[in-house]
Amino acid sequence: MSEPSKGISGLPPERQRIIGEIPVPTLINWLSLGAVPLLFFFAIRAWGRDDALLVVMLTAIALSLVLNTLAYLIGKHKTLHRRGFICLITLLFMYLAIAGIEDGTAVLWLFAYPPIIFYISSLKVGIVTCAFGLASLTALFTPVGADLFNTPYSNSFKLMMISVLAFEMICCFVLDLSRRRAKDRLIILAHEHEYAAKHDAMTGLANRREGLQQLEAEYERYLRNQRRFSVILLDIDLFKSVNDNFGHQAGDKLIALVASKLRDTCRKIDTLSRWGGEEFLVILPETDCKEATHMAERVRKAIAAASIDHDGSRINATISAGVASIQGTEPADNLLQRADEALYNAKASGRNKVCKEGS
Ligand code: GH3
Ligand code: MG
Ligand code: MG
Repeated sequence: MSEPSKGISGLPPERQRIIGEIPVPTLINWLSLGAVPLLFFFAIRAWGRDDALLVVMLTAIALSLVLNTLAYLIGKHKTLHRRGFICLITLLFMYLAIAGIEDGTAVLWLFAYPPIIFYISSLKVGIVTCAFGLASLTALFTPVGADLFNTPYSNSFKLMMISVLAFEMICCFVLDLSRRRAKDRLIILAHEHEYAAKHDAMTGLANRREGLQQLEAEYERYLRNQRRFSVILLDIDLFKSVNDNFGHQAGDKLIALVASKLRDTCRKIDTLSRWGGEEFLVILPETDCKEATHMAERVRKAIAAASIDHDGSRINATISAGVASIQGTEPADNLLQRADEALYNAKASGRNKVCKEGS
């Protein structure tokens, strides 16, 4: 039975690209490759000041970022790639704050940390790493931290740095939360639209267009692996008189009843579609004509035994069905035509009947 498909897979790739955001691995690679020249630039400046430790640190981190990118390009391991990047930038930013590089101004790079972390990881990881970063910076700014690492920051700078960074982290959290919610909403909307485009609102079954697509897909599968399939075309008998005698609403209820009996009787793998007003098409994969005729008989009996309550009176209906199986390399249209002819025979021979092709 056709179910709403997951994700926005129904959209063509170019539209998925438009509504999509930059993939995390791509963003990490851009950031890594953008950071490398900067790190080398400051390493060269450190070289000029004979700061060997800083040269080694910056060069090692630059090379590690390149290696992390190369490892991803070869192995395509997204989690490892992301974790490696987070570890490297956390290490880099911590070192910048502790070493007080470039007269203590390098600590300003910490402002780049929250937006990157929130974008590339989950909200939970973003909150934990930001809280950890803020706590570490606060510890560094205490008199003990300042003595231990001999940092060059003034008290007013520390106060301002901590408050602005905390403010930025909160802003990043709120913006990222709203971005994630908007994205979820978009995915839900895409699901709903995809579902509405493929299903009949009254019965919840696939609509004619979706039924045709499923038929084409089943036909392609048949051409590939020669597994035969069958169809049942069924139509409610003398339905016009139900409308005439009890009104359209009663007719609608009867259509819904037939749909629910179809759902109860058919298998999960079968596609049920509302083919027209009171006409339905069932596609039965890997089913020969004999099995399909049995299935149609079961459906016919289940519908004949059911009834609806309408304004205190019980109304029941019967259906006629035509069954056909795919043969040779005939087009799928021929199959439908033979099912239609079989349905016509069922109607002509008194209704409430199942006829298979050629009988
Ligand atoms: P037969 O046994 O030969 O199929 O006779 P029939 O009366 O079922 O066939 P006919 O094609 O003459 O009538 C079908 C009717 O179904 C006509 C149309 O008004 C009605 N119909 C189509 N769609 C709907 C619907 O969604 N709701 C209701 N209530 N009626 C519908
Ligand atoms: Mg009818
Ligand atoms: Mg009809």
